[in-house]
Amino acid sequence: MLTIPAAAQMEISLECYACGQHVPYSVPTPVCPRCGNDFMETRYNYGRVRQLWPEILERRPFRLWRYRELLPLFDDQFQISMGEGGTPLLRAHNLSMMLGTPKLFIKDERQNPTNSFKDRQAALVISMMKEANITELVVASTGNVAISYSAYSAHAGIKLWTFLPSLVPPEKMREIAIYGSEVIKVTSTYDATKKVAAKFALHKGIQQDRGIRNIGTRESMKTIGFEIAEQLAAELGPAKPGVPWRAPDWYLQAVSGGMGPVGVWKGFQELYQMGLIDRMPKLALIQAEGCAPMVNSWRKDLPEAEPVLNPQTQVITIATGVPGPAYPYLYNVAKQNGGTFEAVSDEETYRALHVLAKMEGISLETAAAATFAGLFKLLSQGVIKRDEIVVVNCSGHTFPVEKFLLEQDWLKVVPSVALDAAPETVTTTTSQAPSEDLLGALENLDERVKKIVIVEDNPEAARLLRRILQTRGDFQIAEAHNGRAGLELIQSTQPDLIMLDLMMPDMDGFAVLDNLKADKVLQDIPVIVITAKELTTKERQRLHGRIQMLLQKGSFMDEDLLNEINALLGTDKGEGL
Ligand SMILES: *Cc1c(COP(=O)(O)O)cnc(C)c1O
Ligand SMILES: [Zn+2]
Repeated sequence: MLTIPAAAQMEISLECYACGQHVPYSVPTPVCPRCGNDFMETRYNYGRVRQLWPEILERRPFRLWRYRELLPLFDDQFQISMGEGGTPLLRAHNLSMMLGTPKLFIKDERQNPTNSFKDRQAALVISMMKEANITELVVASTGNVAISYSAYSAHAGIKLWTFLPSLVPPEKMREIAIYGSEVIKVTSTYDATKKVAAKFALHKGIQQDRGIRNIGTRESMKTIGFEIAEQLAAELGPAKPGVPWRAPDWYLQAVSGGMGPVGVWKGFQELYQMGLIDRMPKLALIQAEGCAPMVNSWRKDLPEAEPVLNPQTQVITIATGVPGPAYPYLYNVAKQNGGTFEAVSDEETYRALHVLAKMEGISLETAAAATFAGLFKLLSQGVIKRDEIVVVNCSGHTFPVEKFLLEQDWLKVVPSVALDAAPETVTTTTSQAPSEDLLGALENLDERVKKIVIVEDNPEAARLLRRILQTRGDFQIAEAHNGRAGLELIQSTQPDLIMLDLMMPDMDGFAVLDNLKADKVLQDIPVIVITAKELTTKERQRLHGRIQMLLQKGSFMDEDLLNEINALLGTDKGEGL
């Protein structure tokens, strides 16, 4: 073991999480000499850093190494960077409107070099290995760590042995192999794979990445918290006078081993200790129902996790049945600070994936989609309040590798005969008319049979409804932005369905409805009413028996909406958003 003398300005030490014993810093992370515990916390001279940071941060780019005073690397010459960190904090406008959550933010970790937040971990851990002159490493992974470590190892000239459970998609395995790592597929669960990797490492005398027990992994994850606090301050203003940054009310992440949230939590703790934020966020940790040891144990109020020996989920990235020391740690955090653990089905996960792609243009990998499915659930349960500041960790841009995402009819094929007949018409805009066949085929692509009229005075809300309907692909949609124009539009188009807002200036939704019901031609067109306000009993009576569905704004996530529309129009394709 190599002991690195602490550089004076860093003043790093290690503190045993179990007994509080202080130990000098070294790589690899030592076990506690007093109690044998192997979960060490890294401590710094926070007062000093608090003094230094305002001036230093002013000059540094928004990247992982921005926070290097609180990262355990001594000599900058060993710093490896491929542009990790400094990811955007996106506002989710459509999603916010659908959910009624104005302060919803997406921490877009997809924009790291290998598209997941594991790049933070790789950057720091591989840098620390270089500093400690370690040249070979064994790692067990559900995919993303191996991809990320492979890229950074290639960059740093480190030999990497990756051990993967057989369910990791072959495309991910190929991605790992292309970086020159050894790829060993273990035909078993992730937990068994870890044991095989450990045996191999011991046998070969190669260091194994100790995951959450390696301080570098957790320390790297802190930077997610640091960045969020800086970005929220830029978006929403400082927490209060004298407290320059801002913590969210909630941080959401899908968890397997739980390294991410343990690190993020520590990051916020350090900021709190330095007076940069004025409170701690709550953690909402999401798992797949088929492999949810933390959620199950939380529900039973167990401070230690009961393992899941036979994981049953397609969301391989988080299929860890035996969580390590993260669970007791996160259990305590949630107990003391009011966080929660929640499980989602694979079906809910795939649905959330579609919602994010279609409503925000954000493609996720399934593990990140599970996080959003968890968000939807916690909002509907009222655990997360709609006006709270919520940040969702969004990671993994690997959904081309997923095969089970799309319905069978996602691809429309134009018969090649048509193209053969007049190939030039496809690529040019000459005056030559396309062949009949081609036009016919292209027209069929755009066959929107059912007509829908949206009467809604808020253009943003109208746009959202239009978008929800567009994702179905087969409606012809017309909009009017006040009651009178809406009525005229309905009279002229005689749609198959009307979506009607109630509160509009001039002629309101009630009046539109009165007019419709008095008209023999229009009275049978189904109406979905959309309202932002709680209705009085009298108002409800006015709607009773005259409309097909009442939809509250901010609850557009209700699967009911599309199901109801499909039922009303007889266009059920079986799949929602
Ligand atoms: C690694 C990973 C997780 C789980 O992270 P932990 O904090 O280690 O539990 C979740 N989602 C994605 C996309 C990941 O890559
Ligand atoms: Zn100890």
